[in-house]
Order: sequence, then C-alpha cells, then structure tokens
Amino acid sequence: MTNTILKCNKCKKYSMERFCECGEECLSIKPAKYSPIDKYSKYRLDYKKKFLDIK
Ligand SMILES: [Zn+2]
Repeated sequence: MTNTILKCNKCKKYSMERFCECGEECLSIKPAKYSPIDKYSKYRLDYKKKFLDIK
C-alpha cells in the first residue's frame, strides 16, 4: 500500500489502490505548485493591464 493518492482516469475516481476496480491502472496525481494554465492566464492578465495602461 502506498500513501500516494492515485486516480483512475477512466472513472475519474481517486483511489489508494494500484489498480481501479474497473481494471484500469490508477495514476498518481502530483500536487501542482503552479500550473502552466494559471501562469498563462496571469501573463494574459498582465498583458491586458499593460495594454490598457498604454491606451
Ligand atoms: Zn476505474
């Protein structure tokens, strides 16, 4: 048994088991310190602010 939280991408369920009850292998989910999406949206926000400042 691991103390890592695993997730079945098929059922979208969280599990501590290596394999889900559906037979699909559960994948470990790592806590994202920052996601590229958030970084991108932040960049977009800065860009928007700059654009508005110039105008
Ligand atoms: Zn499953």
